[in-house]
Amino acid sequence: MILSKEEAKKRMEKLRSEINHHRYLYHVLDRQKISDAALDSLKNELYKLEMEYPELIVPDSPTQRVGGKPLDKFTKVKHSQPMTSLFDAFSQQDIKDWETRISKLVPDERLDYYCELKLDGLAMALKYKQGVFTVGATRGDGKIGEDVTQNLKTIESIPLQLRVPGEAELLKIGLNEKQAKETVRAINQGEVEVRGEAIMTKKVFIELNKKYEREGRALLANTRNGAAGSIRQLDSKITAERKLDFYAYALVNELGFIKHSDTFSLLQLLGFKILHHNKYCRNIGTVIDFHDSWEKNRGKLPFEVDGVVVKVNKLDLWPKLGVVGKGPRYMMAYKFAAEQVTTKIKNVVWQVGRTGILTPTAVLEAVQVGGVIVSHATLHNMDEIERLGLKIGDTIIIERAGDVIPKVVQVLPNLRSGQEKEIKAPKKCPMCDSEVVKVSGEVAYRCSNTNCYAINLRRLTHWASKGAIDIDGLGPKIIEQLIKEGLVSDISDFYNLKEGDLKPLERFADKSASNLIAAINNKKEIELAKFIYGLGIRHIGEETAIVLANHFGSLEKVAEAGLEELDSLPDFGGVMARSVYEWFRDKHNLNLLIRLKNSGVKTKEVKQAKKDLIFKGKSVVLTGSLNSLTRDEAKAKIRELGGDISSAVSKKTGLLVVGNEPGSKYDKAEELGIKIINEEEFLRMIK
Ligand SMILES: [Zn+2]
Repeated sequence: MILSKEEAKKRMEKLRSEINHHRYLYHVLDRQKISDAALDSLKNELYKLEMEYPELIVPDSPTQRVGGKPLDKFTKVKHSQPMTSLFDAFSQQDIKDWETRISKLVPDERLDYYCELKLDGLAMALKYKQGVFTVGATRGDGKIGEDVTQNLKTIESIPLQLRVPGEAELLKIGLNEKQAKETVRAINQGEVEVRGEAIMTKKVFIELNKKYEREGRALLANTRNGAAGSIRQLDSKITAERKLDFYAYALVNELGFIKHSDTFSLLQLLGFKILHHNKYCRNIGTVIDFHDSWEKNRGKLPFEVDGVVVKVNKLDLWPKLGVVGKGPRYMMAYKFAAEQVTTKIKNVVWQVGRTGILTPTAVLEAVQVGGVIVSHATLHNMDEIERLGLKIGDTIIIERAGDVIPKVVQVLPNLRSGQEKEIKAPKKCPMCDSEVVKVSGEVAYRCSNTNCYAINLRRLTHWASKGAIDIDGLGPKIIEQLIKEGLVSDISDFYNLKEGDLKPLERFADKSASNLIAAINNKKEIELAKFIYGLGIRHIGEETAIVLANHFGSLEKVAEAGLEELDSLPDFGGVMARSVYEWFRDKHNLNLLIRLKNSGVKTKEVKQAKKDLIFKGKSVVLTGSLNSLTRDEAKAKIRELGGDISSAVSKKTGLLVVGNEPGSKYDKAEELGIKIINEEEFLRMIK
């Protein structure tokens, strides 16, 4: 959606205050009301608006700084070097763009990378004086952290004393003799600072929550929350009970390493756990492969991971690339596809199921979630809408876990503009206009017309069928599934489907989902006759649809046509004329045409008959077989030259073409005094 500058300004203010609110809960109070992914999604929206309107960026925008404020209950620790935040990449394009940007700063370098799994825990800075663990601090605001040394001492994977590596070990990992000696000296006599992540494993998280449930204590929201809550509290016995783990990922001291990857070897020699999943990647393509493979397999890891940290591997490039704003240019958090994102709800549509029950579905501003683009979310029933407090126009958090239709998990009412609309259960059926009744004792509403579902299914199937729009792969079985999942209720809905909407359906592999979307979009420009036929107007078959299309030339003209004009068309009985006339005067039908148009569906202009077209305005009837043309070829020729084809001779017939063995039409035409020509004359006319 495109916002005006004024609208953007208001939206940005609301986003900033909402993000700040959640960050305060998250970083300062260790409470979490919305997921990290949903918060990221809001930040991303704000960031995109800031890119569009840079003049509206304020210095204290949450996109501009590192989160967290040190809590007063802890002693404060000034970091020897700032603990920066990372910039986020959400897609392949983002990470490639990053490489393009930094390549310009170091044009003569061939960039290679080191990829680390991005643990979802709490970043820590550990200081060792003369080899002994003395101070451990949280990130805080990036410059000042909180002293949580006592709590960290309960974590078994944090060495209380550094292991002193032998010189030979140090030479093996890339240091020269002088550097090796200095390293040993720094460990024994100086200060060493190690950074890493304190985490709670999934197993511990589950066990603790079971225990807390038995004891009636508050449950942990997630592993990050579990880790943060254990470290940022004053009783180190609680930390011990939580069985946290620690993985090191950086060494602040400059010891002369050339490659970032080598520092991991040293961290291990010093006695730290490191992630063995981390990998050297020689180019951005391998980075993407590493990311994609762990995105798929993250569930198998014993801890929560929310992406990959990609670092430029050559350490001498780090100072050249430098730090900008909140984070360094030489590393990037390449996030996994979020299972939760924020988006806006554009509308709620009600779908009548096989049993007549009306089910609401949310139509969304299309958004990427779980790696695919979706435009719908399930809402189940009116009670669910009320429970969520949902209004049309709301900013919402949707979740897509695995291949299922996303659901709406939360409304963010602070982001409302005042333009939101209440959602009400319809009084009349949106499909057939019949009365809607509330099922007594249930939350459901039902259409009182028992044929409602069948009629609508037929209507949808007809549109996609061979004679009409002919959409490949969109048969009755698939359409039934689409109705069942609330994805389509009228034909215009076909054109709003996104790949991610289809993937959850049975018999939809990735391939067939994208194929069907392509097939639907390929048929957005439709021949007028097929379009009219596809609408399923009563009494209007393929032939009569062609008559209408050829006579009027455009949909607008068909819609405006008066009864008399329709009645005068060849082969058009009064019933048909009335049916067309009424169809185009029905409010529901006109709304459907508008929705089709808004979805990008167009009719092809019919080439209007030119003045010298010999059959213009004439109703032509064929009887008997022709020698040089098939019947269909003859019909096409007549239409091309402005004529209309009729199957029977009547007063309105303008011309009868007679082939071999003519039928009773010949006699009738003679009787009515209609002009009759044979094949030879016909061929001469059409030459
Ligand atoms: Zn109905």
